[in-house]
Amino acid sequence: AKAEGRGRWAVYDPERSARDIARSALAAELPTALDRGEFVLHYQPIVSLLDGRMLAVEALVRWQHPERGLVGPDRFIGLAEETGLIVRLGEWVLRQSCRDAQRWHADFPEARLVVSVNLAARQADAPAIVDTVADALADSGLPAELLQLELTESAVMGSAGEPLRTLYRLAALGVRLAVDDFGTGYSNLAYLRRLPITCLKLAGPFVEGLRGDQPSAADHRDVRIVDALVRLAHALELWVTAEAVETEAQAERLRSLRCDSAQGRLFGPPGPAETIVARLRGDPS
Ligand code: C2E
Ligand code: CA
Ligand code: CA
Repeated sequence: AKAEGRGRWAVYDPERSARDIARSALAAELPTALDRGEFVLHYQPIVSLLDGRMLAVEALVRWQHPERGLVGPDRFIGLAEETGLIVRLGEWVLRQSCRDAQRWHADFPEARLVVSVNLAARQADAPAIVDTVADALADSGLPAELLQLELTESAVMGSAGEPLRTLYRLAALGVRLAVDDFGTGYSNLAYLRRLPITCLKLAGPFVEGLRGDQPSAADHRDVRIVDALVRLAHALELWVTAEAVETEAQAERLRSLRCDSAQGRLFGPPGPAETIVARLRGDPS
């Protein structure tokens, strides 16, 4: 494919650090890792801040490396984007997420549990993504409204002409679209009213300032920023999910700012599919 080879290391640089060498070792192994089935999905609950109910789970990919153990996405998603493998890896994530979510839906239909899947800019840009998503839904039998796609601001912002049409076609399938890490990318808000988005996800750094214990001046600013972002979202009839919520004080503050839902260690770390089943069953966690 023409995407391949782009972003590969082409120039010899004697000062390449050990880290870069480790990085390129991982990069070389990525394609076979996919064929060998070494990727696994963990799911993190997204809960209602009103009643604590689990509304959705975010699918987060990990690499079960034969020697290195469980490798986090920060180590390989960038590489997969550079090499173009993200399209194939992302398709696997999408299909596996839909299959898992349909299983949960079949066993716990009243839960209406949504699965939220990250889409890399490169995936979202390709018009073929619409067929891929439609196919993943049809194959799994998952109702479209139980699938949410998370796009970064830069992926959404790049949207003009064809890619914008792609987002509308995705929305027309009936899936939900969320803007990930909202507030950390471009500050152009025009796209918010132009695009068929249903949810904004507030990035961790904003949530960090909502500690409550000994707020600094910067923390006070974070409170006001979150307040403004939640109001903006609600004015546009969008849901807001706060990420990386670690303390009860943060959750309390988010509740008082009328934030709808949250995810983070406070409500449960990402875990294998069984941890979600246990939660749906109501097992004590
Ligand atoms: P993200 O989409 O912002 O995902 C949330 C990250 O926050 C996850 O890191 C999650 O484990 C972490 N997190 C959860 N609870 C807490 C908390 O209480 N505090 C803090 N500080 N962090 C928390 P993870 O799993 O390492 O994923 C990192 C990034 O990798 C994701 O960031 C996402 O951008 C990317 N990623 C993961 N899976 C996929 C995928 O399937 N496709 C694509 N394109 N990107 C993915
Ligand atoms: Ca995400
Ligand atoms: Ca995020």
